[in-house]
Amino acid sequence: MKKIKAIEIDVDKCNGCRACEVICSAFHAAPKYSSANPEKSRIRLAFDPLRQMYVPVLAGEYTKFECNGRDTYTIDGKKYDECSFCRSACPSRTLFKDPDSGLPLKCDMCEELPDGEEPLCVQWCLSDALTYVEREEEGEDVQTRKEMEVGLESMVKQHGLKTVMDTLARIKKETTG
Ligand code: SF4
Ligand code: SF4
Repeated sequence: MKKIKAIEIDVDKCNGCRACEVICSAFHAAPKYSSANPEKSRIRLAFDPLRQMYVPVLAGEYTKFECNGRDTYTIDGKKYDECSFCRSACPSRTLFKDPDSGLPLKCDMCEELPDGEEPLCVQWCLSDALTYVEREEEGEDVQTRKEMEVGLESMVKQHGLKTVMDTLARIKKETTG
C-alpha cells in the first residue's frame, strides 16, 4: 500500500471567490509571492456566473494530443462540452499553460511546503470547498498482479488448466534455456 495525497472538491461549497487561484499563482511565482496571476495557477475555476455554478479544476498531466472527445455535460439544464472540466494542458487550448513560456502547468500539491502543512489552495479556501486527504492505495505491483490473475483465469477457462500449465512450462524452458 502507498500513501496518496489528494484534494477532495465539494462543488456545492465553492462560491467563486478565486482565492485558490491567487495563492497558487503567487506561491509558484519567481521569486515566490512576487506576483499573482490566475492564468499561472494550477487550479482554475470553470464557471457560469449567471447560474452561480463554479467548479474548481486542478491541473493534471500534460497531453501531447487532443482527445477528440465529443462528450457533453448537462448541469442544471445548461450544456458544457468535454473540455469544460478537463484537467489536462493540451494543444487545443491555453488553459494550464504558463502564459509567458507556454510550458504546461501541473498541480504539485505545493511540494515545497513544510511537512504536515496542507496545500495552499486548501488553506485559503474559507468555504471548505477544498479538503486535503491522505489515503492508502494499492501500489502498481499489486494492481499488475491482479490484472495478470484475471488474464490467467480467463485463459484457464478457455483452454483448460493443463494446456496453460504446459504452455507456461514451455515458455519457461525457452526463456531460461
Ligand atoms: S477558494 Fe474555495 S470557494 Fe474560492 S474559488 Fe477556490 S475553491 Fe471556490
Ligand atoms: S495544491 Fe498547491 S499546487 Fe496544487 S492547485 Fe493547490 S495551491 Fe496549486
